[in-house]
Amino acid sequence: APTLAARMSTLGTETAFEVLARAGQLAAQGKDIINLGIGQPDFRTPDHIVEAACKALRDGHHGYTPAAGIPALREAVAADIQRRIGVGIDPGQVLIVPGGKVTMFFVAMLYGEPGVEIMYPNPGFPIYESVIRFSGATPVPIPLLEENGFAFSAEDVLSRITPKTRLIMLNSPANPTGGAVPKEEMDKLVKGLLDHPTVTIMSDEIYGQMLYDGRQHVSMLSYPEIRDRVILLDGWSKTYAMTGWRLGYSVWPKAVLPHAEKLAVNCHSCVNAATQYAGIAALTGPQDAVHAMVKAFDERRRVIVSELNQIPGFRCVEPGGAFYAFPNVEGTGIATKQLQTRLLEEAGVAVIAGTSFGKYGEGYLRFSYANSTENIREAMARIRRLLSA
Ligand code: PLP
Repeated sequence: APTLAARMSTLGTETAFEVLARAGQLAAQGKDIINLGIGQPDFRTPDHIVEAACKALRDGHHGYTPAAGIPALREAVAADIQRRIGVGIDPGQVLIVPGGKVTMFFVAMLYGEPGVEIMYPNPGFPIYESVIRFSGATPVPIPLLEENGFAFSAEDVLSRITPKTRLIMLNSPANPTGGAVPKEEMDKLVKGLLDHPTVTIMSDEIYGQMLYDGRQHVSMLSYPEIRDRVILLDGWSKTYAMTGWRLGYSVWPKAVLPHAEKLAVNCHSCVNAATQYAGIAALTGPQDAVHAMVKAFDERRRVIVSELNQIPGFRCVEPGGAFYAFPNVEGTGIATKQLQTRLLEEAGVAVIAGTSFGKYGEGYLRFSYANSTENIREAMARIRRLLSA
């Protein structure tokens, strides 16, 4: 084995990419695979966004941009936050990054070190725990439970704060559970945080526009009493079906942004220029494609939840947001990871074991319903056949 830095043994990974690779191999062998594993919209990026990138290339935008992003894009982000959340931020607080994930890494590098505790949702996006460990900090899980609709309560978070807590990562609506925290609970949490003025919040709101049954997004930026210690993580990947473009943004407290920008300079210099022009078109252009996509996800959500609840051994609560269902599959008597493998290898259905999202994910599977209703129904039929065989 190569001799590498000891810290490399602390870094985790994202199983969804392993499953994606295996599903690709099986498909290349001629197997018919339905991919409910990877978390990405099955829609194309809207044409006017693609066109804006092509135009930027034709217009000669081929060089470096400022590390924090082109000014017009940072302004478009500020205007979008004003429009959606009703909060005025300074475009100078915005950092354009190559995907929402990069913000997590930067946050861990900026705040994490040995002796420090960082809280994160579990089951949650696997990169949270991975980057916290990589930073040397101690990860403190906030357990998300099925009986609470996978939403954390204010008490779940506040009761875990210690003198060592420096940062709390939150995510609502959530991956992998679809849980969405109601406003009353966020209000209580913010009230409690006033007793802990040195704790910073990273709020991952990348699914903030994917909420169902009339739920409203509650942004951590909407609370003026803590705004000077909130880092907002968001981006274009999910909202505009742009996962492969690698474009995200974060909003930082003014005093922290220069440090985050320094990481960007050390790491990637700037985001691909044409992609940034596409980002402007996405935010300033028509939003009907976004609404149509969310409507389609909502329809599929109803289909998948009802179908999952008809599979013997499965039990699924209704997700409030994002595009994931997270059924409890303990009733099958098959270990979660093994069920993931069998569904892919024997039924041609790619899903992700709940344990990939942390220890509290044991007994669950994540299904992404960013796929056609027809494929979802076919996948469910295959699973029923496999489990009844
Ligand atoms: N945050 C959450 C909760 C996610 O589920 C994802 C992607 O799956 C991301 C952030 C990262 O998105 P990006 O593709 O912009 O890096």
